[in-house]
Amino acid sequence: MKKINLNNIIRNHILQMQAYSAARLEFDGSNAIFIDANENPFGSVSDYSCNRYPDPLQTDIKNALAILEDISPKQIFIGNGSDECIDLLIRAYCEPKQDAILYFPPVFSMYQHCADVHHIHKQEILLLEGSYQLDIDKILNRISNDDSIKIIFICNPNNPTGNLIHTDDILSILDAFNGLVVIDEAYIDFSDATSFVSHLHQFNNLVVLKTFSKSWGMASIRLGYLMADEQIIQALNTIKMPYNIGQHTQETVLNALQHHQTKTDYINEIIEQKNILLEALKQFSFIEKIYPTAANYVLIKVDDANKLYQHLIKDNIVVRNRSKLPLCENSLRITFGTANENQQLLTSLKNYQ
Ligand SMILES: *Cc1c(COP(=O)(O)O)cnc(C)c1O
Repeated sequence: MKKINLNNIIRNHILQMQAYSAARLEFDGSNAIFIDANENPFGSVSDYSCNRYPDPLQTDIKNALAILEDISPKQIFIGNGSDECIDLLIRAYCEPKQDAILYFPPVFSMYQHCADVHHIHKQEILLLEGSYQLDIDKILNRISNDDSIKIIFICNPNNPTGNLIHTDDILSILDAFNGLVVIDEAYIDFSDATSFVSHLHQFNNLVVLKTFSKSWGMASIRLGYLMADEQIIQALNTIKMPYNIGQHTQETVLNALQHHQTKTDYINEIIEQKNILLEALKQFSFIEKIYPTAANYVLIKVDDANKLYQHLIKDNIVVRNRSKLPLCENSLRITFGTANENQQLLTSLKNYQ
């Protein structure tokens, strides 16, 4: 087991802090008279009964997720989307104007966005042109020479390129780096790869992110979760807003966890649509490249991305234009839709030019 001293990388003032003590945590019983939190004891104005503050630590969800992920509930942190998890990691471990995060464009822009919000230095090493794999020699060289880097973000499968990152490369970074390595697995369910959760017992600097926004089909409830060493979870619990996950969200997620097999049905349906669409896209000569994908979207390189984007918009079809990202010149990212949606996309593409 690789163990770094996590107390060395957390911001010192946070290490010294106590968690905010929420009213609901000071007494843990149920059938009491709760006149401790200034709630309305009579009921709610809405049809949905929500006059009481929710469980600040989301114990029921964590217990259910722990079984699903085969880890301890103490290794789970739950956020208002994985976006909140990313934000809190940066806030806990990076000192503004001093520390840095490292990530590998073209990639999901939230890492960069959160670093900007908190005034954290950003270090980028581009993925390799063609394969979109990690430039591993350059990365290993960088991390051995720069101890201002506190967190490395790896998106796997990568958004927007869709490919899986080589496991051996990730493992060598985990081995070499004495800060946190965050693997963002928002799309892992669509791939045949094994989650890095299975490596949590080997590395106390490994952090795995998952979300209910994609394969679970629950983007609007806003729930993501982070799995890591207990000490990291404790640090995040210390700084999070006490009631970051609402009662309605907690109930909805708990309900979903009780019939999680449905997720597999959705994934199978999406992969079936993926295979049909990818095959059909081959007929268009203006699509110069269809990148291999392990996710629920595909990145394509076309002759003129802006022109095609506008053409699709005119037909009421919205794709993501990623042309401004490095190594994504003239590239559009298309999420696999329903059979009907994909058919309309193909019809629109046939009318292009
Ligand atoms: C969609 C997405 C997420 C999910 O974010 P939520 O805040 O949980 O909705 C996380 N990471 C990546 C790479 C994504 O594309």
